[in-house]
Amino acid sequence: MAHSATAGSDEIWAATLQHLRSHVSDATYEGFLRHTCIIDYEDGRVVVGVPNGFARDWLQGRHMDDIRASLYAALGHDVEVHLQVFPHEGVPPPPPLLPALRAEVAERGIGYPYDEFGAAVLNPRYTFENFVVADCNRFAHAAAMQVAKAPGQSYNPLFIHSRAGLGKTHLMQAIGHMVRDRFPHAQVVYVSAENFVNHMISAIRENTMDAFRARYRRVDVWLVDDIQFIAAIEGPASEEEFFHTFNTLYETDKQVVIASDAPPRGLRLLNERLRSRLEMGIVADLRCPDVETRVAILEKKAAAEHVDLPREVLELVAKRIESNIRVLEGALTKICAYISLTDSAPSLALIEELIADYSSAVNESHVSMPEIVDAVAERLGVSAEEILGPRRHKDLSWARQVAIYLSRELTDSSLAAIGHFFGGRDHSTVLHSYNKVADLLAEDRRVLFLINELKSQLTAQ
Ligand code: ADP
Ligand code: MG
Repeated sequence: MAHSATAGSDEIWAATLQHLRSHVSDATYEGFLRHTCIIDYEDGRVVVGVPNGFARDWLQGRHMDDIRASLYAALGHDVEVHLQVFPHEGVPPPPPLLPALRAEVAERGIGYPYDEFGAAVLNPRYTFENFVVADCNRFAHAAAMQVAKAPGQSYNPLFIHSRAGLGKTHLMQAIGHMVRDRFPHAQVVYVSAENFVNHMISAIRENTMDAFRARYRRVDVWLVDDIQFIAAIEGPASEEEFFHTFNTLYETDKQVVIASDAPPRGLRLLNERLRSRLEMGIVADLRCPDVETRVAILEKKAAAEHVDLPREVLELVAKRIESNIRVLEGALTKICAYISLTDSAPSLALIEELIADYSSAVNESHVSMPEIVDAVAERLGVSAEEILGPRRHKDLSWARQVAIYLSRELTDSSLAAIGHFFGGRDHSTVLHSYNKVADLLAEDRRVLFLINELKSQLTAQ
């Protein structure tokens, strides 16, 4: 029997949203989930109303599993979920951050997404004092310090790039803290590219683009994180608006700092002028810390948490987890939790066991080409043999291109090695396939979702 938004469905959806809130980013929640409702609900099937097509595509592409899981948590049984655009009257804009909430955020060190500027609150842990300097990050650190001491005067823009978990956000926010300390009246705005775009979209929707732009004229230091999403999220409009804001600030000698998972040349940008502007200041990368540096980072973190761990424990953890500082810290937190729960000091053997998940997660992130081919074959409904074989049917070519793209992204194999694996193709074919998928990524959101899904599936194992 169909209930149209019966009394029950409001409560079910409230419970679902509460659950979802802790499983998606704040930006996704605020931007896309907050203004949703159940518009139809019958046993086994729920139709969720979303405010616009963009929200629908975003949720459809990334969060259907989260939504289903949260509905399961609220209902106690599985349901089929459909999203439907259902603009309703009186949808309020995202609320300004309440002072009480802001204090709580500052204390707990979590990044609630917006302050009154539409920017994120800085994490109080991400300071220069808490940042361990070593060869892997010395240059980026020095550039960041210089920028914080004389914003807008020396290196502009400062462009920091690295793989995930190596300290980009930390360094960028350290600049924000230092500028605020030294220049209390300076307007420091930290925003992820994703949030920038979300805000731009709500400004377009609410017809407040002028206010959106005017707000940025008051910024002195603009910290933009994860810029790699700028072109990918919403195509030309968001990139253009970013370029416009960038120029406005740059031309009035305001400081811009950008963090990215790729150097400017590796970004999928539609506008070449933007790329050359991004390269105009200083480009600095962060590399994997060596084992000594990893121990030093763990020591600092343990001291900050007031836990006293023997050096051999820190060394063991540092040895096992190599390539991601966030994972390294996660392992330490787990050990600390064990100690405080059991009130006993674990042996080294037990520590190995405790952190096994973390170290294997990192080591196995070296995905193999056969795994990639299997995953692509399954997802696109072709066979692995066909992907590796000679046939050029359209669906097969596409599957092959996707698998080649992922092989280049996720493995260390050379172009020649990838070509050899994919049925003896030469390296220019590999490069062509790679570029084709990379270009489509920037243009077609479905391709973006497909690749992201496959990537997270492959690296999660
Ligand atoms: P990214 O933005 O590059 O993904 P983050 O800045 O979020 O990485 O860093 C991940 C974690 O590692 C954070 O908790 C950060 O404090 C910590 N971290 C990264 N680099 C350092 C460093 N050099 N010293 C101390 N902690 C670090
Ligand atoms: Mg980051």
